[in-house]
Amino acid sequence: MLDSVLKKIDENANRAIDAVKEICSIPSVAAKKQGIDETANLLMKMLEAVGIETQLHPTAGSPVVTGYLDVGAKRTLLFYDHYDVQPAEPLELWDSPPFEPEIRNGRLYARGVADNKGDTLSRIWALRAYKEAGVKLPVNIKFVVEGEEEISSPNLPDFTKKHANFLKADGGIWEFGSAGFDGTQEAWLGLKGILYVQFEVQRISHNAHSSNSSILPSAPFRLVWALSSLKDEKERIQIKGFYDDVVPMTKKEREFVAKIDFEENARRKFWKIDKFVNNYEGEDLREAYYYLPHLSIDGLTSGYQEEGSMTVLPAKASAKIDFRLVENQHPEDIVKKLRNHLDAKGFSDVKIAWYDGYPAAKTPIDHPFVKIVERANQKVYGHALRVHPTTPGSGPLYLFKDHVPMVSIGIGDSESRGHSPNESAAVDNFVKAMKRIAVVIDEMGKW
Ligand SMILES: [Zn+2]
Repeated sequence: MLDSVLKKIDENANRAIDAVKEICSIPSVAAKKQGIDETANLLMKMLEAVGIETQLHPTAGSPVVTGYLDVGAKRTLLFYDHYDVQPAEPLELWDSPPFEPEIRNGRLYARGVADNKGDTLSRIWALRAYKEAGVKLPVNIKFVVEGEEEISSPNLPDFTKKHANFLKADGGIWEFGSAGFDGTQEAWLGLKGILYVQFEVQRISHNAHSSNSSILPSAPFRLVWALSSLKDEKERIQIKGFYDDVVPMTKKEREFVAKIDFEENARRKFWKIDKFVNNYEGEDLREAYYYLPHLSIDGLTSGYQEEGSMTVLPAKASAKIDFRLVENQHPEDIVKKLRNHLDAKGFSDVKIAWYDGYPAAKTPIDHPFVKIVERANQKVYGHALRVHPTTPGSGPLYLFKDHVPMVSIGIGDSESRGHSPNESAAVDNFVKAMKRIAVVIDEMGKW
């Protein structure tokens, strides 16, 4: 029975790819409020074509699309995806237009193909194969597809609060997934939280001639001094109480993480570096990656940055920074501690203009649903899934974690370039990913 589903997936491969091209040609950029309704409608049509009952839930921003198919099975599988994409800029760095999908050397290039429209469609077309092969689904299916993931899901908490019951399922597949540098398929069991902050400093009424800087205060210097107070050169965050709620790795987690092939050399080669930050290697490197919070400066703005020179003392300076948080840390608490830190260090003039964020969440490493995904991967790819306890990235997993154990797998690989120009996915991997979903469904039916 499963064989006929897998065979159907091969037969349908070209149609599925055409569907990916169709949805990727709509520029559904949430940041610009573009193409949102059009994409949500197309998605609903695609879900309905495989017998899934859909609903469009308006929010203060992009609507959430849900899908439900109750076949009266014991288990329910939920998919979380998003139909919005990152902006495609800078356009001149694309080898083909971002919203005109094109296949070159076995890869499909388009904005959103790897993050995450291709994943979404691999799931829908796995279900389609069941339907067209005439094989009854052994699990009930739920979809939650939002349209604001790329702008940090501002309206999803409202939706999940109202529809908590709908989120209940025995297992869930999170939106994205990738393969390692060596081609090994990877799964992620969690996501870090995030606190995103904008700093603003203004010290004088308007820009001045820089010759005045011997007597006038400098906003950019205030900003960099404040920033440099946040973290020492050993990467240790200096905010009082910042690490209070960080839970140390358990023995079980330590053993689990020690067995992961972290591909240290391949990573160094990829980034063209000799050493990781702090000379981290082995266990320390993994701990930093999976289990420690950190801080990064995302952007700095002040004064003159164009060609040649301009002697100016800028009145204003601003910075965007983000903290990646681990389980138990809360953005509201951290932003308070950050404010206290700045005030205590004499930087009351550095304003927190706005902030946003959400906490981390993880699925336990020994959950039986993880084993199901591992079995499915082994069957389709012929090798063991590389399971990471969490990604260092962030996502709204915390909204789901009390209702469904989530595993993140998908069609991406180390060349996919999500959020960057020339985003792509390998066509043959897309087909395999569809098969893996079909086998997850089959295995879940036996659970
Ligand atoms: Zn993304």
